[in-house]
Amino acid sequence: MTTDVETSLRGPKAYDLARKAVEAMEAHQVWPTALNFELWIHYVTAKDSALATEIDTLIQAGEPFTEAVGEHLAAQFLPKAKLNGEILEAGQTLSKELDSVSRAIESARETSEAYGQQLASASESLDGEDASAIKSMVETLTVATRKVREENHALESQLHDTTAELGRLREHLEQVRRDAMTDALSGLANRKAFDEALERACETDGAVTLAVVDIDHFKSFNDTWGHQTGDQVIRYVASVLGRSSPAPRLAARYGGEEFAIVFPGESARAALAVLEACREEVSSRILKRRSTNEDLGAITISAGIAERKPGEGPAALIERADGALYASKRGGRNRTSCADPIAAAA
Ligand code: C2E
Repeated sequence: MTTDVETSLRGPKAYDLARKAVEAMEAHQVWPTALNFELWIHYVTAKDSALATEIDTLIQAGEPFTEAVGEHLAAQFLPKAKLNGEILEAGQTLSKELDSVSRAIESARETSEAYGQQLASASESLDGEDASAIKSMVETLTVATRKVREENHALESQLHDTTAELGRLREHLEQVRRDAMTDALSGLANRKAFDEALERACETDGAVTLAVVDIDHFKSFNDTWGHQTGDQVIRYVASVLGRSSPAPRLAARYGGEEFAIVFPGESARAALAVLEACREEVSSRILKRRSTNEDLGAITISAGIAERKPGEGPAALIERADGALYASKRGGRNRTSCADPIAAAA
């Protein structure tokens, strides 16, 4: 859960919020499972959050709040819980593997210690013995040697299996980490990945530019064409922005129909050129409704750009980029505005 929600659940309104969450679930015929409770607690506590907006959209569209929908929302908006579960599971597997390897190593150590003792007592008992005693001693040693060889072989094969299992675990954890940083609908980075990327970029002394992008008239588009087509439009805009943002740039879905692109080491001028190309590409494509093949009309986007000022932190930079986006909206939409005037090219 986000810190704000957790704080509210320990405050004076905690029981009130819990009751409201249960009432909201009942009103919308949602089973009060632990996962749903977490989602709906967010819904009643943080009405302006991206999760609450998404739940409102589902309610408006009359979509049933199925288990799959709940899981989808949790994966998208509560990635921490999912990540914790996966890491716990991976940790348990890892610890089992390590236990079995250490047991095998201990057994191999005991066998070779016993082998050493057998060798020592053999050499003692060889003193002054006749040929038949030597023969029996050699046979004993041969058996002991074979046992050590077999144990070593078993240990080797177990280490081989463990190495393979560790490789699979590493891949799985890498996938989980990627999922936790990815927005499920658009395939772009999610809000968490964006926050981290902007924070990192702002820690350097170099230039950083931030662009925020919003799909124009998306709400009325959703009302006209339905939630599913709205999702396709989000995916389309995301794919245009994503293609234009190879690393080290990072394009993210910021929430609802809003996106953001971090441009580490780049100026507002460079970002402006990218955003203008994206804007033209989006507005020039005629999208079709998949189910009926109807034209969906022109989709346009508005953008706001701000280049970081010396010492400026992420929050202030976001605010200035948002201000520039607002200027684009006010100016008639389908345009890109910059927070500061861009100096003429040399
Ligand atoms: P998607 O449907 O999963 O398509 C992924 C990519 O496959 C598209 O990327 C495009 O490169 C290719 N593709 C899919 N269908 C067609 C097709 O009928 N003709 C051609 N030439 N290529 C096709 P793109 O264009 O960047 O679109 C990304 C996503 O945006 C699509 O994912 C879809 O969710 C949405 N989208 C794009 N165009 C339309 C459209 O006309 N109508 C609707 N409803 N959604 C669209």
